[in-house]
Amino acid sequence: MYNSDLRGKPRKRDTYWSTDMTVKATTMLSEADGYDLLRQFNVPAPAFEIVQTPDDAAKAATKIGYPVVMKIVSPQIIHKSDAGGVIVGIKTDAEAKEAFNKIVTSAKAYDASAEIKGVIVEEMAKSGLELIIGGKIDPAFGRVLTFGLGGTLVEFYKDVGIRLLPCDDEDIRSLIHQIKAYTLIRGYRGQAPLDEEFLFQTLKNACDFFEKNVNVVEFDINPLRLYEKGGCAVDARVIVQDEPVELPAHYDPAKIVPLDYYKPRSVAVIGASDDPTKMGYAVFRNILQFPGKVYPVNNKRDEIQGVKCYPTLSDIPGHVDMVVITVPAQLVPAIMSECGLKGVKMAVVITAGFKEMDEDGRALETRMVEIAKNYGIRIVGPNCLGLILPPFKLDTTYVSTSPLPGDIAFISQSGAIVNAVVGISLSEGSEMGYSEVVSVGNQCDLDFLDYMSYAARDPHTKSIILYVEEIKNGVAFMEMAKEITQTKPIVAIKAGSSKRGQAAAASHTGSLSGSFDVYMEAFRKCGVVPVKTLPGAFQVAKALGDLKKPLTGRRAVVITNAGGFAVLSNDYAETWGIEIIDLPKHIIDELNTFLPPFWNKNNPIDLLGDATEARFRGVFDVLCKNEDLWDMAILVNFPNKVLAPDRVAQILIDNSKRTDNLLVGTFVGGDCLKPGVDLLKKNNILVFEELEFTYRALGHLSWTADR
Ligand code: ADP
Ligand code: MG
Repeated sequence: MYNSDLRGKPRKRDTYWSTDMTVKATTMLSEADGYDLLRQFNVPAPAFEIVQTPDDAAKAATKIGYPVVMKIVSPQIIHKSDAGGVIVGIKTDAEAKEAFNKIVTSAKAYDASAEIKGVIVEEMAKSGLELIIGGKIDPAFGRVLTFGLGGTLVEFYKDVGIRLLPCDDEDIRSLIHQIKAYTLIRGYRGQAPLDEEFLFQTLKNACDFFEKNVNVVEFDINPLRLYEKGGCAVDARVIVQDEPVELPAHYDPAKIVPLDYYKPRSVAVIGASDDPTKMGYAVFRNILQFPGKVYPVNNKRDEIQGVKCYPTLSDIPGHVDMVVITVPAQLVPAIMSECGLKGVKMAVVITAGFKEMDEDGRALETRMVEIAKNYGIRIVGPNCLGLILPPFKLDTTYVSTSPLPGDIAFISQSGAIVNAVVGISLSEGSEMGYSEVVSVGNQCDLDFLDYMSYAARDPHTKSIILYVEEIKNGVAFMEMAKEITQTKPIVAIKAGSSKRGQAAAASHTGSLSGSFDVYMEAFRKCGVVPVKTLPGAFQVAKALGDLKKPLTGRRAVVITNAGGFAVLSNDYAETWGIEIIDLPKHIIDELNTFLPPFWNKNNPIDLLGDATEARFRGVFDVLCKNEDLWDMAILVNFPNKVLAPDRVAQILIDNSKRTDNLLVGTFVGGDCLKPGVDLLKKNNILVFEELEFTYRALGHLSWTADR
């Protein structure tokens, strides 16, 4: 299919940045082959011919028709312009001959060792808006499509968006609309609009091209020129490998761990201790709360923390469903065999010193997993804090105090963050309770997906928070998350928004979107709400868990008796993507019938400092009658003598029974407003005590409305 004479091994680029994928030998197709391939997928490209001499250049140019563009053909020269390898606007035979020599000379000067395969003479496309369409393979999430403002200044603009394949029409449309340069496509300042339909179709064709050519690891069409009618690719770079690209695996429901694995009747702690400085002490102390049978195992004692101790697991007279292992890594494989003989279902391996440490550790881990597999034992960890299921009083960790039971599942790739979160949840004034807290550790067996699946099936869990560093099986993750978010919200903090670990190479597609962007897009696609901070995660998870129905949009009405907050509301709303709607005339007319004549006749609705309960209730009467005009109503209150905070809270509580739209309280002013805040919390009405946070949280919440 490809003209192998023109192919060669590209240099100066990183193929993948993942250490887990074997780097396969890749080759770059020539621009000519790229054009031919794209044409098969209905992407228009210029007429061209490849020549080896100045005379042939002139002949080809005459055949194609002046003006023409001439470019270097060399597998090692990725950025032809940088090498002085592109000359546009060639109008005569003499210019064509001269251009040939100039291009070859410049290319040789740029890279003496580059193989020069000739010069391509192309039909010169008329000018248009230069866009980029690209594709790359993400090791976790598979094929990624990039689209944005193109040309030789792509890195400068960085105006690109991405989508994960497969894409539907809506994904592509929203991608076109999301870039800043969409203003230019739509027609800027009296200029005629460009052919958006052609662009849409070309993006779909590019996806089709990428999915059907299973050997393509990366490509970019930069630029694609877009006109008022149609468009044309005027550069094409396609990187292929010999074997089909290996894509991440799909989610396999057969691998799901049955719920009873998480509900042991008895738990043994291997390495339990009486010495408060040992990990086995704290772990056993936490396990003591468990209402089922608990057994300490330690061959040096008869009794630990007042409980009869056994020298080995096999010595325990009854059955053991779960073990928690805290002994050194070298001992773990043998213990795993013992677990198998004892009929243990689940092993929580707290011990570190496995894969994360060195090659020996990796070998130990492999051995341990092999043994566990043979016996059908499932492993949490190793190298983790462990698992806490507060509703069952099961805490296999060494955290100093166990968290309270509640309805949030917290799944973390960092043990330290679990510690911190548990600490925060127990601090004064916090009402955070958990249904599941887990630190995933090395995920040698059970991984993010398993713990998410547990939370999805667990009746105690209302919402899920993830702290993610890296997800290996991204495709399976998305499939599962998409299913879960239909019924339970997932909020995720993704660590590493920096561009660490990305190929630094200049204008190939890989550098335009980093892996963080890919995560954000993956989250968007499967309805996971990304948040930046831990407190944000809890507030949003709680709010989403308590929502009566998912938010349907971003349209907000703000009602306040504090004029200053009305102004700030506009600012914050804009920052966080909340749309404070203009009130239609009929609403203003209706409000005029009972509000004092000097009200601001605008949204935010400023009811003024002396606003009475009747004024607030009157506004809500009108809003509830017109509930399809807005998605959320935000009541902003401040301390004042006219209206007590609990009375204000009651207004929200009463009206929340009349509409399915979201009602939100914001009580800014500290302790004196606490009676109102508490009342709202008790009635499951979303309330914040800081104005900016209201908009930030709502901005995150409305993420779900965008799907
Ligand atoms: P590079 O390898 O540097 O990306 P390109 O093939 O994209 O080289 O050429 C650089 C620029 O020259 C393009 O961005 C485009 O503006 C212009 N150009 C290239 N080919 C053509 C063509 N056939 N018609 C019109 N302009 C072209
Ligand atoms: Mg280019």
